[in-house]
Amino acid sequence: MEFQDKVLKCVDCGKDFIFTAGEQLFFHDKQFHNDPKRCKACKLKRGGGSSVRAETRTNCSVCGQETTVPFRPTQGRPVLCRSCFEQNRRAPATGQSATGTAGEPIVAAMAPPADSVETAGTEVKSLR
Ligand SMILES: [Zn+2]
Ligand SMILES: [Zn+2]
Repeated sequence: MEFQDKVLKCVDCGKDFIFTAGEQLFFHDKQFHNDPKRCKACKLKRGGGSSVRAETRTNCSVCGQETTVPFRPTQGRPVLCRSCFEQNRRAPATGQSATGTAGEPIVAAMAPPADSVETAGTEVKSLR
């Protein structure tokens, strides 16, 4: 099978572009039956975009910035963007009650739950 460079017209910008023999071979290997419709520049502009994750757009409960989460947020629970979560983690709000509220906030970054530290009240005396 031999391929030769082909001149195609880009459907986006209308310019001619070369569908090279190498690219044709690649398309043949991948069993793509359609010629490319766009020049490289236009393809880049479109950003590839073949694998779109099913992400839910939502707004951060703290800063209001739009963020996406790879799951469906539960109603009534706060959703934090990555940066707000980091801040929240470093400087936890001390005024609010520590337990028994709406639970852990949902985090866009899907970080593991805050470290469960078990240092408080450990008995050191037991050893003699
Ligand atoms: Zn183009
Ligand atoms: Zn935020």
